[in-house]
Amino acid sequence: MIQVNGGSSMAVSRLSLPQLAPRAGAPAADRAHAPDCSECPPPAPDHVRAARRMIDSHGRVIRDLRLSITDRCNFRCVYCMDPGVRFMERERLLTTPEIIRVARVAASLGVRKIRLTGGEPTLHPELTEIIGGIRAATDVEIAMITNASRLSRAALREWKQAGLERVTISIDSLRPERFARLTRSTCTPGDVLDGVSMCLDEGLTPLKLNAVLIRGFNDDEAPMLAELARRFGIEMRFIEYMPLDSGRAWDPSKWVAAAETRRAIGARHELVACGDDEASSTARTYRFADLPRDASARIGFIAPVSSPFCGACSRLRLTADGKVRPCLFSTREWDLRALLRGPSTSDDAIAGFLIDATWTKQAGHGIATPEFEQPARSMSAIGG
Ligand code: SF4
Repeated sequence: MIQVNGGSSMAVSRLSLPQLAPRAGAPAADRAHAPDCSECPPPAPDHVRAARRMIDSHGRVIRDLRLSITDRCNFRCVYCMDPGVRFMERERLLTTPEIIRVARVAASLGVRKIRLTGGEPTLHPELTEIIGGIRAATDVEIAMITNASRLSRAALREWKQAGLERVTISIDSLRPERFARLTRSTCTPGDVLDGVSMCLDEGLTPLKLNAVLIRGFNDDEAPMLAELARRFGIEMRFIEYMPLDSGRAWDPSKWVAAAETRRAIGARHELVACGDDEASSTARTYRFADLPRDASARIGFIAPVSSPFCGACSRLRLTADGKVRPCLFSTREWDLRALLRGPSTSDDAIAGFLIDATWTKQAGHGIATPEFEQPARSMSAIGG
């Protein structure tokens, strides 16, 4: 009996997986890249490769692919990107056909959700083609995370028409001067809220909002941001500040625990745990006690530092330059772009690479442990 981890705690052990029957008619994923290639993942056990599913050595199954399609962004959020950041040359970034091909192969290995990220994905000149290509090649759910600074009804309708189903929007402050200092952009909270209204009008739902709280910077705004959930009937999520900034300025004194944020909001509105979150979901959600049980207004807490959810993680990431990152905090990443651009690379070779890379996925981020090492790559070049 194979044990696939859906919801257990962080303490996971290396499972010896029994032989899995290969899917009927599906050739074993072959391994086209050089055995000693340092940019390539070591081979996963044959029985895992024969199963043609992305499973890691802790028994977790990958169902969500976070696809970064660009490292460019028009914001310079203090917890993410330094003002002096240099973007990658275009030829290093995956092309639209390459992105669609990886999405198609990943879907054949069990991926059910693809989230398009960046940098800022709306900056990609072929975003519509990417969405449409993934739509045509797969039946996965297609979502996008955006800072909503460049949304228009025409663009939203075009992306929806192409296959985009829902969006998540980042908003870390409702105070214009603070928003400007946080994002180092000319955009305003009003612009972002206009984007929220447009997305709701165009049916890109369920819509979620994300805010990263930094102590002494915007943590006092949690109750005000929570009101957005009631105002728009959406899920407002608070993310604990993580050590992934290119400036390496993260320190624990600036981090606000989800429990503290929950108390601050609870002082204004009583919150009740929904208790229906998927095991692999990053957020733990709450509803407002004074609203009907089925109201869509919710508050979510994403607490990777105080309450890691790695035990049931189902995510894999692909960076805009084609590196597979099994974990957000991976300090090792695998170069799929070289394989994609290799002579006559087969889909099976790409599948084998994804399966092998997944097998190397670490148990968790280890942020609070002495061994923790902040990845060399910052959030803006990984994608949310
Ligand atoms: S830190 Fe890594 S293992 Fe943990 S939830 Fe995030 S991606 Fe998954």
